Amino acid sequence: MNTHYTPREPTRTTPPLHGETSHAREELADWLRDAHAMEMQAEAMLKGQAARLENYPQLKARIEQHITETQRQARDVEQCLKSMGEDTSALKDSGGKAMAMMQAMGGMIMGDEVIKGALVGYSFEHMEIASYTVLTAAAEAAGEQEIASVCERILGEERAMAEWLSAHTPEVVRKYLARAESESAKSKR
Ligand code: MG
Ligand code: FE
Repeated sequence: MNTHYTPREPTRTTPPLHGETSHAREELADWLRDAHAMEMQAEAMLKGQAARLENYPQLKARIEQHITETQRQARDVEQCLKSMGEDTSALKDSGGKAMAMMQAMGGMIMGDEVIKGALVGYSFEHMEIASYTVLTAAAEAAGEQEIASVCERILGEERAMAEWLSAHTPEVVRKYLARAESESAKSKR
């Protein structure tokens, strides 16, 4: 006999169909909503970053590629929620708020914005890697195999972006420093 029995919350009106699976589904839906808000924030941030990178064409091109990936990721996450029968009508609002916040933050970044952008962007990709690692495991636990494979594909895109940034950030820093050096030489003349 199980002596550690804990009664379920009395607020539940219908019994779970597959025991813990029902709880896993609720968590999965919440975390997919968070991921959608994260992608909206990513899109706003990447667009702001790309607009300031005219002197870094390679970085700009890779970021633009990732904007396209990010837009599809947001749509795919929304589709995952719909496939679970979740209401997705409120998703757009959270994105709007995130975008306003990112624009305000973007206005505060001065001078070394290229390097600040590189730091924030690199960190952000790792947060996304963590999120989709969680989501893939949660979807598997909830028996949502198709959602798990969508999250795994997105995870691969985030990893590829993080790896690209890891490989190319040193070169961006060198270019930034060289440009700053020649700017200050010019102003001293
Ligand atoms: Mg993403
Ligand atoms: Fe990303």
